[in-house]
Order: sequence, then C-alpha cells, then structure tokens
Amino acid sequence: MFRKILIANRGEIACRIIRTARDMGIATVAVHSDVDGAALHVAMADEAVAIGGAAPADSYLRGDRIIEAALATGAEAIHPGYGFLSENPGFVEAVEAAGLVFIGPSARAIRAMGLKGAAKALMEKAGVPVVPGYHGDNQDDEHLAGAADAIGYPVLVKAVAGGGGKGMRRVDSPKDFAEALRAARAEARSAFGNDAVLVEKFIAKPRHIEVQVFGDGTRAVHLFERDCSLQRRHQKVIEEAPAPGMTDAMRAAMGQAAVRAAEAIGYRGAGTVEFIVDASEGLRPDRFWFMEMNTRLQVEHPVTEAITGIDLVEWQIRVAAGESLPPEADRLAISGHAVEARLYAEDPAGGFLPATGRIGHLSFPPGVRVDSGIRAGDTISPWYDPMIAKIIAHGPTRAIALARLRKALAGTEVAGLVTNLGFLSALVDHPDFAAGDVDTGLVERHQAALAAPPVPRPSHVALAAIAACGLDRPPAHAGFALHGPLVRDVALLGADGPVPVRLSVDGADTLRVAVGDQWLSARRVNGRWRLDGTPAGHALLLGDAVEVFDAEAGSFRFSLPDPLSRDDGGATPSGAVVAPMPGLVRDVLVEPGAGVAAGDPLVVLEAMKMEHTLRAGRAGRVAAVSVRAGDQVEAGQTLATLAPEGEDEAPQEEKSA
Ligand code: ADP
Ligand code: ADP
Ligand code: MG
Repeated sequence: MFRKILIANRGEIACRIIRTARDMGIATVAVHSDVDGAALHVAMADEAVAIGGAAPADSYLRGDRIIEAALATGAEAIHPGYGFLSENPGFVEAVEAAGLVFIGPSARAIRAMGLKGAAKALMEKAGVPVVPGYHGDNQDDEHLAGAADAIGYPVLVKAVAGGGGKGMRRVDSPKDFAEALRAARAEARSAFGNDAVLVEKFIAKPRHIEVQVFGDGTRAVHLFERDCSLQRRHQKVIEEAPAPGMTDAMRAAMGQAAVRAAEAIGYRGAGTVEFIVDASEGLRPDRFWFMEMNTRLQVEHPVTEAITGIDLVEWQIRVAAGESLPPEADRLAISGHAVEARLYAEDPAGGFLPATGRIGHLSFPPGVRVDSGIRAGDTISPWYDPMIAKIIAHGPTRAIALARLRKALAGTEVAGLVTNLGFLSALVDHPDFAAGDVDTGLVERHQAALAAPPVPRPSHVALAAIAACGLDRPPAHAGFALHGPLVRDVALLGADGPVPVRLSVDGADTLRVAVGDQWLSARRVNGRWRLDGTPAGHALLLGDAVEVFDAEAGSFRFSLPDPLSRDDGGATPSGAVVAPMPGLVRDVLVEPGAGVAAGDPLVVLEAMKMEHTLRAGRAGRVAAVSVRAGDQVEAGQTLATLAPEGEDEAPQEEKSA
C-alpha cells in the first residue's frame, strides 16, 4: 500500500479523498493555486505545494508541476479527483513515465471513451445498446443533415469531445438544422478545440440513469444505478440511488450492459456508464441507450456509497496499489435510498448565474453527510466551480431520504451571497419529484415556480427588522435601546420589493413590530426572540443584508437599502449593461444604433464554465458597444450602453456631408 499520495485537485473532492487516505493511514500532499493557499483542502493535507496562478491553466491543469510536486514530496501516487486532469490520457502517461502511479484507469481506457463518437462505435461492437444516430467520420453538412432526416426529428447535435452540456443543440425540424450545426461546432471548437459532432435521436421523456462500475483491469462489477434526471442546463443538481421505479429486470439489463462496457476496455478503477432512458411508458429493459462513459469518480458518487456502504475512494486506492477487486464486490446489495443535492453559489431566478463573493456564515445541520471544501470566511472566486457543498441524505425508504434531505436543506445556513438553497428545497418539495415522476425536462418546465424566492412570514420579516436595528445583540451593543427613539421605521428590501416595518420598543426585551398592518409582539427569552410567543429562528446582519434562518421554513434574505442612496434600488434600468463577473466576451449580438426590446440578448459572456446572456433591461436604442468578442472583461465593466430613455423613440438620422 502507498504511504503517501498527492491529490491533484481542490475543493470538496480533494477534501473527500484526503479523508479516506487519512483513514487508511496514508499521508497526503495537497497542491494549490495562488488564491487557494488558505483553502480547506490545503489545511487538511499533511503537506501542500503551491503550483501556480489562479487560472486552472496555470495551476490545476499544469501536469508537469503536479508531477514535480509529487516527486519532491515523495508521494508515490496521484489521485486526480474529477474535472481538471482526471480524464487526460497524456497526464496519465506522464505520471507513469515519472515512475508514479495514477489512481484511475489506464491512458488507453480513457482514450477509448474520450470521444463520444468513437466510444459509441466501440460500445456497439461490444453489444451495448447505443442511442440511434450517426457517429461516423463524415462531417459534411449535407451528410449530417441527411443523417438527421434518416434518424427522424427531434435530434440532438453533440460535440464528440463534449462535456458539461457544452456543444450540444436540440433540433426540432430540418429548417433549423444548419444553424444548430453551426452553433454546436462553434461552441465545441472554442471549448474543446475539436468541432466534430455526432447526430443522435432526441429521446422522448428522457431520464438520465447511470451505472457505477468498478474494475480491477480484468474483471468489473457494477454498484447499481443513480438517477440524475434533475438537471439545469444539462447539468445535474439532485441525484439519487436507486432510480425511482427501477425494476429488477431493467437493473439487471443496465448493470450487465455497463459491466460489458467496462470489461470491453479492461477497465481499472471507478467509472460511470451514462445511459439515456425513454421513460414515456415507464422503465423498460429495451428502452435504454449508452450515452457516454466517464472514466473517473463522479460528483454524485456519495449516493452510491450511502446505499452500498462502500467507500469508493478506498477501492480506487487499493486497486491502484495492485489489489484485485475486494471480496465485498461479490456481496453488493442495496440498503435503503439516498439523495444528494448540490448547493451552488448561483442565482436560480437570474438564469442560474453563478455568484462570487465571501461566505460570511455557513453551517449544516447534523444527520446528513456533507461534502464541502468551503468554510465560513472563504471566498467563492470566479476561477473555479461555484459549488459550495453536496448534502447527502440516506434513509430506509425514498420518502424518508427525501424528508431528511428536506429537513437538512431547511436547516442549512449560508450568508454572504446568493445560493440555490431555496430552489433545492422547492425541487425536493415538487410533487412530481416526490412521486418519482422525473425526467430531464422537469426543472425547465417548472423553472419559474422553482426559482421563485420563498415567501417569508411576518415573523421572519419582524426578526429581520430586529436584527437590522442591532436588537438581536445584548442591549449594551444595540443600535438603539431604551434611551433611543421609542419608535423606529426600518426599510427592508425583500425578494418582492420593499417591506416597511415599524418597531416600537416597550422594554429591553419586549417590542411590538408592525409588518404591513399586522402587529406582532416580540419577547426575548434566553437571548432568542419569540414572535407572538413562537421562536422564529435567528437572524444575521452581514454588511447590507440580513439573513433569517428558520430550521423549519428555510432561509430568507433581505437587503437594507442605503437611505442616502438615490431611490433607484437598481430596479430602474440605467443605460449601462455591466459585466456581473469577470469573464470572456463570447459574442456581441448588437451594433450601435440598433433598436432593442426589453429582454433582447445583447452580449454573451463566458464565466465560471458557463455562458451568460446579458439582456436589455428595457426597450431602447444601443448607443455604444464597448467590447468585442474575445475581450477579457472585469466585473462591473460596461459592455454596452443604451441611449437615455426618451431618445430611443426618435432614432437619430445621420446627416451625410
Ligand atoms: P458529473 O457528471 O460528475 O457532474 P461533469 O462533467 O458535470 O460531471 O463535471 C464534474 C465536475 O468536474 C464539475 O462539477 C466541475 O466541478 C468539475 N469540472 C468539469 N470540468 C472542469 C474543468 N474544465 N475545469 C475544472 N473543473 C471541471
Ligand atoms: P456531457 O458530456 O455534457 O455530460 P452527455 O452526452 O452525457 O453530455 O449528455 C448530458 C445530458 O444531455 C444528459 O444527461 C441528458 O439530459 C441530455 N441528453 C443527452 N443525450 C440525449 C438524447 N439523445 N436525448 C435526450 N436527452 C439527451
Ligand atoms: Mg454526461
């Protein structure tokens, strides 16, 4: 067994690998970029090596520096985590050439599955059902269009080198094919440097069901399935195991197909075979098709660990050290049900725009597994994935696992930036999800309702106002007390606009609070305020925002408008279209002089691995465009300007000389 390993990753997955290594008595080496020197994974490891600048290309993707760090610290093996270098066969070869062990599959296996088209062809030969479509070498426009006609619309154009939902376009009719092909190729070229595509049938009522496999190079087993149908932008947000409604026959068929896929490439280590399932008539053994194989540990592996009791990272390390499949591999069984929710710094109401900033407060309730690489005080930077944590609940039945997850989400406290916590709670409560009636379109169909911010009760508003005045602290520290004004008005800005609140102080521990025209009585008992006799959670004032945490009802966020600032609250759209975060301008869709309607797309910005379309806040005329495609921009930089209101009605006539 290894005595020391290096983890070539960051965040929650690096922390998770360190935990298992520690349990196995293995010393760990972390690597980190310049902005990650104080990160949790660095603090948890026995040693750490700085490998370069913040941009992944300067640090976490620098295979040469990572190998140097391993050699310098005496690490014998490298665990790549997921993302970054985990599916890079060149890195695997470099690691092995340096006399080190790569904790993962062989370069050959990664290559075999690296391109979706070639992988499909290989799987077809191995007798694994693949999505009907064209995945050959002929990339002629006409040929591909003909293939789409033959397959039958709707079809999906996919980048063969794709990942993370990029380079993928759904096409519903032949007249849209040429444009979709162009767009998919352009995205694939810039994201993967390879614009080859495949065309496949778009499956009706699709469910994403994947099978966890594990091999030792000779033999492979499967550890059952995960359902990952709850997705936004083709990216998973909630995953579970087993899949709702799974039958023994379907599980056996999918499991055998996945094992066949793994054994066909002599697979060693943990891998996932992703299938798309047509669930329009329930789950049927003849209605699942291979999509791709991910030759690494997957983000959602904890749900499999929860239902099998297996530590997949321990298995990865043991097999990499030369052991064959552990004896437990022949005694695998499903125990209960597990669900994972991915907590992200992102704004569901704003098209899931990732957020950056400092996490002022972070706490999770007991009773669930939480995998995180973030602590209170850490910053979500624009450089990396904005995931804050994975929350994993396990129970004897699906209903109990969901109830535990619901409770855990309500008891999760994050303050300092916008997150998808409310969205996750709404999703867990969604009747279709609760019934197990899932498909990959569920989130999009119910997007508006799921993304709507939760509605606070008057007691939550009252508590926020109390905290805003400093009255949640001991009287000596409060902003005003008995000697201050007896009545005070507080302007809170909730998700739906201003919420006027009036506080009337009766004593150090008694208040009356008017929320709208409803009066509540507030009383402090043992340092905690009760509203009309009932505890309403607790509140936290952080900068210019108040966060109310109620372990039953969830969290509510209010901002405190600066009374000195003009009363525009950011709601009246000024003319400037500003970059919400640092990023790369992918596309400029308007020219100066163009007339636009409210909501029209103006500029496409790429940041944090996603594309964001910035839209006109109102109708008007484009006065200026300040950037070009390819420009790197800073947060707050003006990208385009709309002419002042009023001017837009009368387009200026250019006087020719
Ligand atoms: P999964 O199916 O496991 O969700 P994804 O393909 O969505 O896999 O990617 C897994 C994770 O890997 C992402 O959530 C992200 O954290 C990380 N990741 C993916 N691509 C990159 C990349 N290019 N750079 C850094 N991290 C990445
Ligand atoms: P990526 O490499 O980006 O993960 P995948 O091929 O795994 O790409 O597909 C990602 C998601 O896109 C799937 O989980 C599913 O939601 C959707 N998808 C992919 N192929 C199909 C298909 N043929 N029909 C319907 N939906 C699909
Ligand atoms: Mg995939």
